[in-house]
Amino acid sequence: MMARYSAWSILQQGLTGNKGWQPAWAKPRVKKSYQAIIVGGGGHGLATAYYLAKNHGITDVAVLEKGWIGGGNAGRNTTIIRSNYMIEGNTGFYEKSLQLWESLSVELNFNLMFSQRGHLSLCFSPGQRDALARRYNIMRLNGIDAEWLDRDQLQKFVPLLDMQGQRRFPIIGGFLQRRAGTARHDAVNWGFARAASKLGVDIIENCEVTGFVKKRGRIVGVETNQGEIAAEKIGLAVAGSTSQLAGLAGLGRLPIETHKLQAFVSEPLKPLLDTVVVFGGAGHFYISQSDKGGMVFGGDLDGYNSYAQRGNLPIWQDVSSAAMSIMPALGRVRVLRQWAGIMDMSMDGSPFICKTDIGGLYLNAGWCYGGFKATPASGWCFAHTIAEDAPHELNRLLTLDRFAKGRPIDESGHGPWPKLH
Ligand SMILES: Cc1cc2nc3c(=O)[nH]c(=O)nc-3n(C[C@H](O)[C@H](O)[C@H](O)COP(=O)(O)OP(=O)(O)OC[C@H]3O[C@@H](n4cnc5c(N)ncnc54)[C@H](O)[C@@H]3O)c2cc1C
Repeated sequence: MMARYSAWSILQQGLTGNKGWQPAWAKPRVKKSYQAIIVGGGGHGLATAYYLAKNHGITDVAVLEKGWIGGGNAGRNTTIIRSNYMIEGNTGFYEKSLQLWESLSVELNFNLMFSQRGHLSLCFSPGQRDALARRYNIMRLNGIDAEWLDRDQLQKFVPLLDMQGQRRFPIIGGFLQRRAGTARHDAVNWGFARAASKLGVDIIENCEVTGFVKKRGRIVGVETNQGEIAAEKIGLAVAGSTSQLAGLAGLGRLPIETHKLQAFVSEPLKPLLDTVVVFGGAGHFYISQSDKGGMVFGGDLDGYNSYAQRGNLPIWQDVSSAAMSIMPALGRVRVLRQWAGIMDMSMDGSPFICKTDIGGLYLNAGWCYGGFKATPASGWCFAHTIAEDAPHELNRLLTLDRFAKGRPIDESGHGPWPKLH
């Protein structure tokens, strides 16, 4: 029986030498069969398992992870959470996710360090302002918070911004979503794992899916480095490895490409920036300050297909020069470490949560570089799709066949080229 975390338990453990803490989640041996298997122990896989147990009473579930949980993108992202989407199919879905984040720490009994510090998109030209005004007005029409900050308000809100010295990209204002923010990514993985484990889900690490077992055209199990495991239903939530797993399952080529995205973090600093700032349009750069004090920098994809979890120097330089152009005070900050993750870039920038053409196989993919914020709603909707064999209202449009039917959900309006999303 897993103990509840509380102020009382901290006090009690503190007074007794912290010797009574139990492992946060169980480490059972893998069984020969399950009702449902989720492949991929990132945030989406763990959230799916949790909601299968909690919302649908399906507890005979295993999450199979080839490495350690949260070792993929779920533990490598820049942790930005927002719901500033404007296209039907995305708007309601991402807002549901933000609403779930708002009570998730309490629900999971795990401090996710969710911090609604706001998300600010800077504008550098009237054209960019008008395009974003359309997006943020549509958000307001959908009941999602959004506001415009003019130059004076902006300078007050983010003193670190260089509003005066800016010549090349003069900042003319910014759009703010105040309810947006950040969370601690590892805590999200651990929180979902712990809560799912408490409800009876088996979390199996170091278990790589290497093939699928088929019977009469239906998938009835998986082959793994820990043996064959049978299951009535199998959900894929493997992010950047989706094309590989889809190939093994016989799904054919999907409208997804694997690209890498990198980020880096500075040495810890005193509080300097208490919101998320995005510099889009002229370049691509986003920055926030972690609770440990590190400045967290992110930017564009590296620009070529790869499964390597490390980034290249040109993008690092690109991000640094964008940072210097709007926050020159960062010039003396030292970078502590840099890393990358592998992105499942869909051709319209929107995800897939759906059944596949193969019986027993379900797909959760196409998160591009924005899937962290989607974690709770993704798990919620994928669990519904697997349990009910039908989509939830919120993922009704997130299907694989939307390209064949001419209904892409092209949020950026850039067209079918992953680099542009
Ligand atoms: C640098 C960076 C910055 C980002 N910034 C943001 C951000 O600010 N905001 C945001 O919303 N999103 C962001 N993202 C995107 C976000 O992290 C991803 O979209 C999201 O984490 C993907 O879902 P996941 O957590 O389930 O993926 P993952 O954590 O990658 O989970 C997939 C898991 O599947 C496992 N797996 C793969 N193959 C197999 C197999 N054969 N058998 C068993 N297991 C397997 C992998 O080991 C991995 O653990 C960023 C990503 C990166 C890399």
